[in-house]
Amino acid sequence: MSDSEAGATGARENPPVRRVSDWDAAQLAELAIEYGTPLYVQDLDRARENCERLRDAFPDADVRYAVKAHTGRRVLETVREAGLDAECASAGEVDRALAAGFGGDRLHYTAVNPPARDLDYVVGVAEAEPDLTVTVGAVDTLDRLAERGYEGRVCVRVNPGVGAGHHEKVRTGGAAKFGIPSDRAAEAAREAAERFDVVGVHAHAGSGIDPEQLDSHRELVTRMGELARELTDPDGDAAPLDLEYVDVGGGFGVPYQEDEPPLGLPAVAEATREAVAPLPAGVDLAIEPGRYVVADAGVLLTRVNTVKPTPDERVVGVDAGMTDLLRPAMYDAYHPIRNLGRGRSADGGDAPTPDEREATPVTVAGPICETGDTLCKDRALADPTRGDLLAVGVAGAYGYEMASQYNSRPRPAEVALDDGTATIARRREGLPDLTAVERNADTPAGGDR
Ligand SMILES: *Cc1c(COP(=O)(O)O)cnc(C)c1O
Repeated sequence: MSDSEAGATGARENPPVRRVSDWDAAQLAELAIEYGTPLYVQDLDRARENCERLRDAFPDADVRYAVKAHTGRRVLETVREAGLDAECASAGEVDRALAAGFGGDRLHYTAVNPPARDLDYVVGVAEAEPDLTVTVGAVDTLDRLAERGYEGRVCVRVNPGVGAGHHEKVRTGGAAKFGIPSDRAAEAAREAAERFDVVGVHAHAGSGIDPEQLDSHRELVTRMGELARELTDPDGDAAPLDLEYVDVGGGFGVPYQEDEPPLGLPAVAEATREAVAPLPAGVDLAIEPGRYVVADAGVLLTRVNTVKPTPDERVVGVDAGMTDLLRPAMYDAYHPIRNLGRGRSADGGDAPTPDEREATPVTVAGPICETGDTLCKDRALADPTRGDLLAVGVAGAYGYEMASQYNSRPRPAEVALDDGTATIARRREGLPDLTAVERNADTPAGGDR
């Protein structure tokens, strides 16, 4: 090998996307054989790279990982070590972030119609971790915090009136559920400052910022910049607020389709900085990516158990369904699927490798008794046969997180890859996990709630 070749391979590459075709098929097949299917594989090295690209593109911003995309302990630790803060949507997420080592100064709790139990918990945490920030999207929620004696850090969530996203169900910016209406936001922030330490303003448009949606992102960011200037204006009619940041949310898109170009992160960063400028002195930009950090770091492995030719379509039955990966059923989401062949499983014999097979349009369907339980329809795959392993790509965000036990299906296992080494990160649930919370009618009163 010449020196220049060594340099080329030795340099740390960090491509803007990892496609399902970029994964090592042999390694994935080995993991499926060792740990069984369905199996999530989450590559912590790739999550690290994604954190790095975000920090490179937004060097002056606070980058907060929206924990709900993937709350696994190993992922949280990786993200924390990569220098990101944690944005949490529930008491449970705050609890997990604390357990993963995030201190209060790196914890942001976003309260959306927060259940009383969640508020009680978070106010309790804030007593020990006073640097924790609560992001609030309704004046009612401020009252409920005050009733609990909370006087700490508050960020005011604004409904920017613009939404973005790949599906109606992920556009939050325009939905009245989220945030204080923008024409009332300044007043609400000033009133809040009488009772709390108001440190920031926040808006999140939804999920799926892509090149075509950059305009609505720009609009949201522009409005947030204006709001920050208004609130901190020393010459204004009202006393200026001592804001620390303007948080413009997450929603950085990832390419699910194989031929979709990756998000130009530097261009988004540039547009964001331009739109928010000029930021008042001492006020930082903050962003909250979830999906972007973990989506292409994960795949779901599933095995073909039934192939059924019908007059209309070829149905490929697999052992993963909407209980393992809900996005296709819930959002009509597209996930790339790659046939890995059989690995070295006994089921197979000498089937041709996927490369040698003809691309055949198939429906890939799971084991759940629901019509919506398909991972794809009319998709050309290297003709799957019984025993093949399929890798469902870009499954690292909102994958395991949305898994359920519907149809009494235990949730799958998850393996973490760290520096190429695989270890179990979440064990596979078994049948006893399905009934672990059940109690009989004669369970003594005064026990469980
Ligand atoms: C879900 C969410 C995010 C992250 O969205 P992604 O599309 O995963 O980047 C950020 N902020 C808030 C408030 C959210 O609810």
